[in-house]
Amino acid sequence: MLADQDIAALKALISFPKEVVILSHRNPDGDAIGSSLALSLYLQTLGHRTTVIFPSEYPEVFEWMPQSKDILIYDLQPQQAETAVERAELIFCLDFNGLDRIDKLGLKVDASRSPKVMIDHHLDPEPFADILFSTTQVSSTAELVYRLILRIQGHKSISTEIAECVYVGIMTDTGSFHHATSGDLYRIVADLKDGGLDDTRVQELVNNSLPDKYLRLLGHCLNNRMELIPEWGLGIIYLSREDYRNFDIRRGDTEGIINYLMMLKSVRVGVMVMNQPSIVKLSMRSKGTFSVQAICREHFGGGGHRNASGGYSKSSMEDTLKKLKEVFPSYLVPEKIENS
Ligand code: 5GP
Ligand code: MN
Repeated sequence: MLADQDIAALKALISFPKEVVILSHRNPDGDAIGSSLALSLYLQTLGHRTTVIFPSEYPEVFEWMPQSKDILIYDLQPQQAETAVERAELIFCLDFNGLDRIDKLGLKVDASRSPKVMIDHHLDPEPFADILFSTTQVSSTAELVYRLILRIQGHKSISTEIAECVYVGIMTDTGSFHHATSGDLYRIVADLKDGGLDDTRVQELVNNSLPDKYLRLLGHCLNNRMELIPEWGLGIIYLSREDYRNFDIRRGDTEGIINYLMMLKSVRVGVMVMNQPSIVKLSMRSKGTFSVQAICREHFGGGGHRNASGGYSKSSMEDTLKKLKEVFPSYLVPEKIENS
């Protein structure tokens, strides 16, 4: 998973202080921010100057995280972000594996001649990095960053701040330890807890700190915007432009709503379709062997994991829903054969 030669190459790259840029993907989630800040804090202990950059803003529930206020947001400060990438002597790409996930910054990264290191756990990595730590065998990029730090420094003691960041990534990407878990993951979390991590505090800060409008929006989604097609095991929730206005939906406000679809016995695949300003964004989840990654990759310009993926469409909401329903049945066939 973490090959000796790659660890040695990374060690050499970070053996003396550098200007480091750490990038993660658009619509950064808990793993994007948790893994990026954990790595950034760790590299600072080695004397590096670090800049964390995201294409777009992160959800408010992560604003308490250490140094989160210093994160550069490309949408808000494009010039500063581009300059930082141009000046970087070492670039880390975390929690994404295709340059289209970081918008125009992808061109800057592509043009940079500095070494690039990818740390990621999604399917089908693009070969743009010099060193690849890419495996789908971990819960999260944060778990991978933690494992890397341990391999580099050779002992388990890490700061409480780094532990909190790692925990945020693990907790959010596993749906609070619902999926993608392993014995090794629980052993890592046990070590974090033994080291002083206040996991309950982190759970409260991230999961129980939502604004009132969240539940109102959730009620609206479940009551007025949910469509179930039980014969396909498909559940859909869609949000119109009007919904975005009426509920004042902003970054992160729709996070987790898709999980309510997955609570239903009749639902094997949950899809959330959101009419955002310039694109129609799709989020997909599935149970068992059904691959939403295949649908997202083949029809919606996206990807992700087998059971959690995303993509987008430039068509209208109506046409996007139509396309989804057109292509969906063909993905049911191999599954049926497999289960018979
Ligand atoms: P979410 O539905 O929570 O936005 O994303 C689920 C998973 O799919 C995440 O791992 C995320 O990184 C990935 N994902 C979401 N949208 C896209 C996309 O447009 N392209 C690709 N390649 N991956 C995506
Ligand atoms: Mn992740």
